[in-house]
Amino acid sequence: MAFKNAYLQKVYEKVEQRNPGEKEFLQAVREVLESFEPVVEKDKSFETNGIIDRIVEPERFIQFRVSWVDDNGNVQVNRGYRCQFNSAIGPYKGGIRLHPSVCASVIKFLGFEQIFKNSLTGLPMGGGKGGSDFDPKGKSDREIMAFCQSFMTELSKHIGADTDVPAGDIGTGAREIGYMFGQYKRLRGLFEGVLTGKGLTYGGSLARTEATGYGLLYITEEMLKCHGDSMKDKIVAVSGAGNVAIYAIQKAQQLGAKVVTCSDSNGWVYDPDGIDVAALKEIKEVKRQRLTAYKDYRPASEYHEGKGVWSVKCDVALPCATQNELNLEDAKMLVANGAKVVAEGANMPTTQEATDFLQESGVYFLPGKAANAGGVATSALEMSQNSERLHWTFEEVDSKLQKIMVDLYHNIDNAAKKYGFEGNYVAGANIAGFEKVVEAMTAQGVV
Ligand code: NDP
Repeated sequence: MAFKNAYLQKVYEKVEQRNPGEKEFLQAVREVLESFEPVVEKDKSFETNGIIDRIVEPERFIQFRVSWVDDNGNVQVNRGYRCQFNSAIGPYKGGIRLHPSVCASVIKFLGFEQIFKNSLTGLPMGGGKGGSDFDPKGKSDREIMAFCQSFMTELSKHIGADTDVPAGDIGTGAREIGYMFGQYKRLRGLFEGVLTGKGLTYGGSLARTEATGYGLLYITEEMLKCHGDSMKDKIVAVSGAGNVAIYAIQKAQQLGAKVVTCSDSNGWVYDPDGIDVAALKEIKEVKRQRLTAYKDYRPASEYHEGKGVWSVKCDVALPCATQNELNLEDAKMLVANGAKVVAEGANMPTTQEATDFLQESGVYFLPGKAANAGGVATSALEMSQNSERLHWTFEEVDSKLQKIMVDLYHNIDNAAKKYGFEGNYVAGANIAGFEKVVEAMTAQGVV
């Protein structure tokens, strides 16, 4: 479908031409540019200043070879990436994804989304993202360390506490951040806040582990409150069983909801009595097992191979695994089963058609760039603590996170209302995130 605005259409065609076949990146750009139509239509300076032409082009895109030796003595070669997308409002900031599906398109889509998400937090961070097609699953600790050290040997040339500060993402947790931090320090001789998600003994922040999942629930609760409702007694379906999913489940339960599902890339669990978070943490964080092990802890639960989380009856759906995991068919099942809220813990987990369908069906839809911004917001709090050489309590960090998510909800709600999109939080998030970046880009001239 063509854009109504000729300038946006011209820019999008150029993005398609320059990034052929990069479907995730093109999907993210299209969705964001669609929300910009009323803003760009009103003000010709976007075109004269080339704002949209510049915002869709990464400032820098680095691709590199990552060679390492496995436990059998064989040389392995992976591909590493860092996309430094936009630094108008602060140093680049965004996670490192380690997953076989990682490619240039995925890294660019995540880097692009990160620009607006970081801006929405109200904190001074530009947008970036990195990763590798390395698969940490089934690797020994020594292999993980060998990979992380090799990856950081190249990445260390491009990052720094005031230039680019990576964090965790799929496949990159506390263990990987630790190995990467150690290698950065060895190479650069600097003990600085160059990564977030660090361990508590070397500069990490309390509540960073919980932040994305907790933040997702804080914003969902605020939205429900503004519609005269709450999470209390809601039945919730969650996908994923990683960092975001685990702490989303925990906070949902603390708010009085019952979460009945979780999943990994092999299958999913249905637990009618509510997911046992302690068991889930032991399986995933300690033993690094598959979800088939959940039945050992909760014999009354069901395990199913494949995909199926969105087929259960629920009031609230929280996709917390990966991109494009909730499609039109899933959205139809959710609506038929009476779901009233979809809030994205993952990045772009809902396809465009599914998002449109959910919104047209009156489901409150909170997009990832707003709903999962609690992680990067708390990373910024970790950076503040590092530069001040301070360590805040869990309660201090958690209450700042809560305030950021509540403010963020009102920010996107107001932006949606201002441009005639009341209740459309996708448009609200894109516009609210965009406004600050545009102001900074305009002030800094054509760079
Ligand atoms: P984890 O690696 O901790 O967990 C990811 C979970 O999703 C795992 O259960 C994994 O299963 C599952 N998963 C991953 N890929 C697929 C796939 N292709 N199909 C089905 N299931 C899959 O990652 P996080 O929890 O950190 O990240 C989840 C999402 O949240 C991502 O989209 C990430 O970008 C986003 N996010 C994360 C933030 C953070 O602070 N961690 C911040 C903001 C967004 P398996 O183990 O079998 O692969």
